[in-house]
Parts: sequence; structure tokens; C-alpha cells
Amino acid sequence: MGPLLGEDNSQQGAEVGAEPAGWGAAAQWGAEELDDADPVRVLTLPLQAQQAMGRMEEFVFKVWEGRWRVIPYDVLPDWLKDNDFLLHGHRPPMPSFRACFRSIFRLHTETGNIWTHLIGFLFFLILGIGYMFSPNVNYVAPVQERVVFGMFFLGATLCLCFSWLFHTVYCHSERVSRTFSKLDYSGITLLIVGSFVPWLYYSFYCSPQPQLIYLIIVCALGITAITVSQSDHFSTPQYRAVRAGVFLGLGLSGLVPTLHFLLAEGPVRAARAGQVGWLFLMALLYILGAALYAARVPERFFPGKCDIWFNSHQIFHVLVVAGAGVHLHGVSQLQAFRFSLGGTCTESTVL
Ligand SMILES: [Zn+2]
Repeated sequence: MGPLLGEDNSQQGAEVGAEPAGWGAAAQWGAEELDDADPVRVLTLPLQAQQAMGRMEEFVFKVWEGRWRVIPYDVLPDWLKDNDFLLHGHRPPMPSFRACFRSIFRLHTETGNIWTHLIGFLFFLILGIGYMFSPNVNYVAPVQERVVFGMFFLGATLCLCFSWLFHTVYCHSERVSRTFSKLDYSGITLLIVGSFVPWLYYSFYCSPQPQLIYLIIVCALGITAITVSQSDHFSTPQYRAVRAGVFLGLGLSGLVPTLHFLLAEGPVRAARAGQVGWLFLMALLYILGAALYAARVPERFFPGKCDIWFNSHQIFHVLVVAGAGVHLHGVSQLQAFRFSLGGTCTESTVL
């Protein structure tokens, strides 16, 4: 049964004893079926018997996969315990990628987290492809501007892709969960840094020196955030506020170039030409998302009522997608403004 279960066989036996009764029984039963399917013995059987056994194995595995039931928080193993306000509806540990991916279509605590970023990922992927292949006539410097927008789309799609993948395979095993959580956190940094690129490019269009300095600083901060998020402690529940703080800090580092822009251009031009209004709305969405995430609101006030829908992590996910959408609209307006000027820098253009 090796090829059917792929990577799962070795871990299955190890997991069984530690898991809750329902899951343990199912896994144990699956493991017994595996013993019967010794590949050496299969080779010695007549063809018909092999085919019958193949069908049987497939059937057994399908049933085995479908047997899991959602379980309460208190029977979860420690590495799956993240939010004790979500009382029920958790997936058990499922050391099979196939079972994890199939669980996308079932209701549990991660369903909303998976779909919010899977849909967001597809949205930005299609939009990004559209931007990359839009006619050259919309750009002053087509290649350069596509690279700049490409950085945003790359950051957004990687962030959302790593996120839905992490939430999908989160229950696979401690090792897989830890690896994907690091990818998930790195994705948030990529989204933030990727968002800075087109904004700095168009906001400081006629001032290449501050433009470059701010870009270098945000890249250095991004590398620092990615490095910090590789620590095994970073993904633990105790570090929830630290995590929110790191990403909030990275995003809020944009306050320095924003103030620079406001002081140089004045509030009226900053709002009209600099699209600062959209930037503030984006910042508001991200800050609200990070605050709800860190404080675990609303499930804190309604323990057990937000297990499947409307918990803080899902709201945070939706706010991230909305924030990225608002940012894209803002930088598209900035791009249109520079395009309307033909990309020229005159005495009257301050930045
Ligand atoms: Zn998430």
C-alpha cells in the first residue's frame, strides 16, 4: 500500500498511541490493513487477485481517509493547541497530505482560514497576470513599471498561497506544521515589502535618492522579520502578540516615508496626487486585523460560538485581502497620476 499512502506510513504508527481514541482506532485499523498489503506478497499473487487487492486497498484507504471526525480542543496534542477559545470542531492530527487537502471541503476550525486566502490567492493571481499582460500604452516605462507592480503581486500571491497551504497542512504533523508556519510568516513579510515597492516608486518618482534609501531600509527590515520568524518559538501561542508586533512594526515603518511625503508635498497634494487617503485606509485595515488577531476577538467573548465561522483569524485573513486590494487601488491611482504627467519631473513636482 506504499504508493497509496505515500509519505504517511512511517509516521502513522508513531502517532497512534498519543491520539484521542476515535482517531487512534481509525489509524490503527488503517495500519492493520497496511500489513496485509506487503508488496513482496502482492507480487507473488495472480494478476486478478492483485487487481482485487488493489481495489480493496483503494477502498480501504478512502474509508480510512473519510473516517476522521472533528474533535474538541482539550484532546488536541500540544502542537495543535493554538486558540483555547475555539472549543470544538478541530481536525485531528492527520499525517497524510491527501487527507489534509481533502479536508478543505469539510467543515472545521480551519475551513474559513483556508478558503479566505485560497480565494484571495486566485484573485490576486488572475489580477497580476492581467497587469503583466496589459497593453504597453498604459505605462511610461513598461518594463520597469511591470517589475514594480510584479513585486507587489509576487508578495501578495506568495503570502496568500503560503497561508492557505499552511492552514491546510497545519494538522499533518508537528514537523510539517512548523515548516509551513515559517513559510506563512515569511509570506506576510513578502506582502508588506512587496506593497512598499510600487508605492515608494511612484510616490518618490522624481526623487531617486530617498526612493532608494527607503527601499533598502524596508528590504533590510523585511529580511530581519523573515529571520526572526524562522525561530521555532515564534509560532507558539505565547508569541502571538510578538508576531502581531513584528508585522505591525514592519508595516508602520511606512510612516516615515509617508510623513516625508506629507511634509514635502503638503496635505492637499498628498491626498490628491499621493493617494494618502487610500494608504491610511489600508493601514487601518491591517492594524484592525492585527489587533483582532492578537486579542482573539470576538471568540474571547463568545468561547465556542466562533469555532467554525467569524473567529479572529478569519476576520484577520479577510482584512489582509481587503488591505492588499485597497493598496493596489491606491498605487494604481498613483501610477495613473504619473502617467497623466507623461512621467516628467518639473520644478513644480516636489517628489
Ligand atoms: Zn492565517
